Amino acid sequence: PKRVSLAEAGPVKKPSHSAPTRVRVSVRLRPYISREDEGKEGPCVRGTGDRSLEILNWRNSMETMSYQFDAFYGERSSQQEVYTGSVKPVLSHLLSGQNASVFAYGPTGAGKTHTMLGGAEEPGVIPRAVRDVFQMVREQSSLPASQDWEHSVSMSYLEIYNEKVLDLLEPRDLDLPIREDKDKNILIPGLTQRAIGSFSEFESHFLPASQNRTVASTKLNTRSSRSHTVLVIRVVKSQRSHPFRQLTGKLYLIDLAGSEDNRRTGNQGIRLKESGAINSSLFVLSKVVDSLNQGLARVPYRDSKLTRLLQDSLGGSAHSVMITNIAPEQKYYFDTLTALNFAAKSKQVVNKPFTRETLQAAALKRQREESAQSENAPKKR
Ligand code: ADP
Ligand code: MG
Repeated sequence: PKRVSLAEAGPVKKPSHSAPTRVRVSVRLRPYISREDEGKEGPCVRGTGDRSLEILNWRNSMETMSYQFDAFYGERSSQQEVYTGSVKPVLSHLLSGQNASVFAYGPTGAGKTHTMLGGAEEPGVIPRAVRDVFQMVREQSSLPASQDWEHSVSMSYLEIYNEKVLDLLEPRDLDLPIREDKDKNILIPGLTQRAIGSFSEFESHFLPASQNRTVASTKLNTRSSRSHTVLVIRVVKSQRSHPFRQLTGKLYLIDLAGSEDNRRTGNQGIRLKESGAINSSLFVLSKVVDSLNQGLARVPYRDSKLTRLLQDSLGGSAHSVMITNIAPEQKYYFDTLTALNFAAKSKQVVNKPFTRETLQAAALKRQREESAQSENAPKKR
């Protein structure tokens, strides 16, 4: 496979832009994993519209807290809906040399990997986005106006673990440095970059690398929930004749570390250190998202590896979306609340924090209806 040097990239002229774009925030609630739990407890969180949800207030069961986001995807939402509604719109800018990033955020077990990767039957954001990037490139190259331009696509795949940047395409025990060039582009010298000409070529690099990761993660038990996995898809448009302009658009597809508070799960020693690093880099991410969405002058990109890496792809002329994954089970309640507050803070909309409504009664009623229903209808799974 070809290695493309980052140094080959010529001057990159970013399109002019006005105010930095804010980060769009979506929330996806996954279904109950077990029917039994669902029947027993009833969800502590539920959608109230296609942009809003409410969650029981643990301090007062007579109250619920209501949140509003850019999009809310309920337990029956499909991979297609999430992709079309929240991810596809940010991709169009890649071919004009702008950057984009998509994050899956939320506690371990809430559906981040399902959303980003999915399975063979229900592919997630990553395979859908990569297919569409190739589709967009094909469409654009066939336009008469594009005859003077050559398109190329390449990929990198990395992990941020314990504030170390590790190459997943050519795993070495090496913490790669993050640099910024004179045009303020962030780059990682030494990171493997593979040219890819088709989706199947993408898979031929991506699948073994994610396979390695899955195997390793079961061995180390919790590594995958403690590291940020970052796939970079780079689209370069080069002019064949004078003035040989070049436009680079980068797409970051990120499965973030679990947002759960590890202090509560009784982790010790090395684990605690890992959680500390993860929590602090998620904490910095929350500050960055917050600063961008509030239009603050100082955005603390440099305070963590993750945000430093994303500096040219989060804010500025870049387009970003955070998909916050949450789970309905009672045992996730506090992690769900924390995740929603993270997401809502970045949205700055907490709509009617306490709507006077008894969710428990509603939940009980719904539970009765559903159990009546499930006696008649065939069970899902
Ligand atoms: P995370 O990556 O956040 O730890 P996973 O994506 O591994 O969580 O999801 C945990 C479990 O829930 C997996 O078995 C996954 O298949 C399932 N799951 C997650 N989201 C959904 C969904 N929207 N629909 C059906 N199953 C889901
Ligand atoms: Mg996962």
